[in-house]
Amino acid sequence: MSRYPDSPERCAEALRTALRQMGQQPARWTPVCFAVWFEHAAGINGGLSQAIARRLDAKAPIDDDAVLQLHAEHIADPDREAVQRISDDLQRLMTGVAENASSTGDSAGHFGERLDRLSGAIKAAPPQDLPKLLDEASSSARQMQDSTATLVQQIDDGRREIDRLRSELVRARGEAMTDPLTGVLNRKGFDQHLASLLIQAGGTPDAHSLIMVDIDHFKNVNDTHGHVMGDQVIVALAQVLRRCAPKEHHLVARYGGEEFAILLPRTPLADGVRLAEAVCQGARAMKFRDRRTQQVVMTVTVSAGVAAHEPGEDSSSWIARSDAALYKSKQGGRDRVSAA
Ligand code: GH3
Ligand code: MG
Ligand code: MG
Repeated sequence: MSRYPDSPERCAEALRTALRQMGQQPARWTPVCFAVWFEHAAGINGGLSQAIARRLDAKAPIDDDAVLQLHAEHIADPDREAVQRISDDLQRLMTGVAENASSTGDSAGHFGERLDRLSGAIKAAPPQDLPKLLDEASSSARQMQDSTATLVQQIDDGRREIDRLRSELVRARGEAMTDPLTGVLNRKGFDQHLASLLIQAGGTPDAHSLIMVDIDHFKNVNDTHGHVMGDQVIVALAQVLRRCAPKEHHLVARYGGEEFAILLPRTPLADGVRLAEAVCQGARAMKFRDRRTQQVVMTVTVSAGVAAHEPGEDSSSWIARSDAALYKSKQGGRDRVSAA
C-alpha cells in the first residue's frame, strides 16, 4: 500500500487529524468517510484536498452525499472500474458464442448421423420413395445451414462487440489519465509516463529534463477574481504549456491544483531551461479580459524549476530536485526559471 505514509507515527498523526476533522462534519463515520478524511489529513491526495478546501471555503457541509462524491471523484480508481465492467461484458459475450458454437456442433453431429442414415436408406429405397428421402435430406441440410448462419452471425457480432469494448477500454484509460479541466495529463498519467521513461532511461546524464511550473500568487487571483476566473487561468496556462512543448514526446501534465509538470525526454538541461523561459514569457503575455468591457483585468506570472535526470535517479528524487529549483525561483522573486 505505497499510497499511504509508511511511518506508523505519520499514520497515527494523520488518523488523529482525520478524526478531528470528521467530527466537525455531519457525514456518518463510515469507512468511505474515513478514507476521504484520512487521505486528506495524510496530505497524499492533492485533488481531494483541493476539493475539500473548496467546499469548506464555500461553507458547504460535508455530508454523506458529499463524502460519496469526493470518494468517487478522488479515491475510487475509475480505471479499475472500467476494466472490470469491460471484462464482465467480454466474459458474457464469450460465453454466448461458446454456447452457440457447441449447439451448432451438436446440430452438425445430428446432421452427419442423419445423412449417413439417409444415404443408406436412399441406396436401398424403391424409386418411388426417393423424392421423400431427398426432401428429408434437403430439410436437414437447411437446418444445418441455419444453425451455422446463426453461429457465423454471432461470431461476427462478437467481433464487432470486442472492437467496441477495446476502444471503450482505450478511452476509459485515457479519461482516467486526463485532467478534465485542462485536457492535459493528470497526476496519474504523469506518474505512469515518468515511471516508464525511467524504466527505459539509460546511464547518460542530462538526457531528460523535467520542468515544474507554478502560478505565482494564485491565491490572490482566486480571492480577487473568484474561482471561476482562477479556473480560466489554469486552462489558459495549460494551452501555453502545450504551445511551448508541442512535440509528441513532450508530456504536459497538471501535477496539482495550479502546478504543472513538463516531462521532456531526450532533452538536455539547457534546452529544458530555454523551454521553461518560453513558458514564463507565454504566461506573462496572457491577458484576461472582462467579458463586457473587454478591459484587461488581470495578468499572471509563473515560476519554474528545471532539473535534468541523473543516471540511476528515481522519480521522487528527480521531482524533488525540480521542485527545489522551483522553490528557488519563488524565493528569488518569482516570474523566473531556476535550474537544479
Ligand atoms: P505562490 O506564488 O507561492 O505559489 O503563491 P500561491 O498563492 O500561488 O500559492 P498557494 O499554494 O498558497 O495557493 C494556491 C492556491 O491555488 C490555493 C488554492 O485555493 C488554489 N487552487 C488550487 N487548485 C485550484 C483550482 O483547480 N482552481 C482554482 N480556481 N484554484 C485552485
Ligand atoms: Mg502558486
Ligand atoms: Mg502551488
